[in-house]
Amino acid sequence: MDILIVEDELEIAKLIQLTLEREGFTCYVCHDGLSALQTFSTQQPDVIILDLMLPGLDGLEVCARIRQKPGIKDPYILMLTARGEEIDRVIGLSTGADDYLVKPFSPTELVARVRALLRRSLRHGGQSLIYRTPHFIVDVDRHSANRQLDSGTSEPLDLTTLEFNLLATFISQPNRVWSRTQLIDKLWGDDFFGDERVVDTHVARLRKKIEPDPANPIFVKTVIGVGYKFEDR
Ligand code: CA
Repeated sequence: MDILIVEDELEIAKLIQLTLEREGFTCYVCHDGLSALQTFSTQQPDVIILDLMLPGLDGLEVCARIRQKPGIKDPYILMLTARGEEIDRVIGLSTGADDYLVKPFSPTELVARVRALLRRSLRHGGQSLIYRTPHFIVDVDRHSANRQLDSGTSEPLDLTTLEFNLLATFISQPNRVWSRTQLIDKLWGDDFFGDERVVDTHVARLRKKIEPDPANPIFVKTVIGVGYKFEDR
């Protein structure tokens, strides 16, 4: 397991490196955002420990750029923040970080967090169940769905469990056409008794929450005579 540490305070960077190397992880260390992006591309670490306040590109910017890189496996990102307002920024903005840790932290706590992140990735055979499209991020583990904004940040979508499962199903296979029966199997399984049109009701509710104009949907499209499909270009 490879870990990239991005921290401009040299002593903290060293402490993190020693702590994690003692646990058997391979570490790469960068002290600014630009070199972090380069090292990320060449080494493709499993986890990134990313300080929020960095010279030049800050942690939020680095995080956003990493999440936008196509074709590279998505790393787990643990954001480091100082106390105070920074924490609100990290939580409030839904930065794309998977977890955060407030300074000062103990080495034990750091190791525990990293292990927790890796456990999550191992549970899915190394694949984290996070789906990203240009406008949405759906994290199945965390049961969270976010809308990506043009500013590079994102905002949480307030979905019911059923709406969430519907969106996750759609986004797991963009452009696939789903019949109502297939969606019922996926969402209710054998517990379903009733009318297929219940799917339409839930699709309408989901559209109200994710479509700019629910009457003219651009994401969840009706396929006449068949069912629905999800697109996000
Ligand atoms: Ca810093």
